[in-house]
Amino acid sequence: MSNKFYVVGTPIGNLEDITYRAVRILGEVDLVLCEDTRVTKNLLNKYDIKTTTFSYPSDNLKPGADKINSKVEYILKMVGEGKNLALVSDAGTPTISDPGSVLVAKIKETFPEVEVIAVPGPSAVISALSISGLNTAEFTFLGFLPHKKGRETLFKEIGASERLAVFYESPHRIIKTLESLLKFAPNKKVVIARELTKVFEQIVHGTPAEVLQYFTVNSDKVRGEFVVLVSPE
Ligand code: SAM
Repeated sequence: MSNKFYVVGTPIGNLEDITYRAVRILGEVDLVLCEDTRVTKNLLNKYDIKTTTFSYPSDNLKPGADKINSKVEYILKMVGEGKNLALVSDAGTPTISDPGSVLVAKIKETFPEVEVIAVPGPSAVISALSISGLNTAEFTFLGFLPHKKGRETLFKEIGASERLAVFYESPHRIIKTLESLLKFAPNKKVVIARELTKVFEQIVHGTPAEVLQYFTVNSDKVRGEFVVLVSPE
């Protein structure tokens, strides 16, 4: 079989952040596998792409799970019939703190001859690093921190680490996170990258105390999407 399975990066806010190649491939494939078809249709409509969309099972296909349900069966059938598919997520690069990796593994295992091809695009972690002004030669990406078990241990590790730590955070937890950084990493430098590529894009930096103070005073800014960078410098 010479068909292909593309993993395509899509915008993290600004719909213009998509490559020519991604637009071409999304237009050429037989099916676009989406996290949420409504979100992806916004993007496809902007570029006048008419390809059929199909939502892939993100919930019951977590790493470690090995469930094959009817949606996965359908996807495998399409690949088995020689169709070209593209996988996207709601924003950024699929499988990076997003579902999709189990599906990619399944495709590779079931059809070793099918080429799995990256069509690179934006990712919030890389965008945040690129404008942080920090030394990004090395970093540890932690994805989303666990909500409960292991959370405090991670903050202790971040506090003790000599390596730049980067993670994703929700507006619901950002204040708690800054409080933990104040407790366990008080002397580190924190950079918050908020709403990247969007109208209210913002960078806030300082010690954990300074950044916590900023978001406590400016509670209207405790919204949107956040990348947190914690630097030993
Ligand atoms: N796959 C995506 C990527 O490649 O960046 C990440 C998906 S993850 C489910 C979503 C998280 O990424 C958000 O909660 C936020 O922490 C971060 N994120 C996504 N878009 C962002 C943006 N425009 N600005 C800041 N952070 C963003």
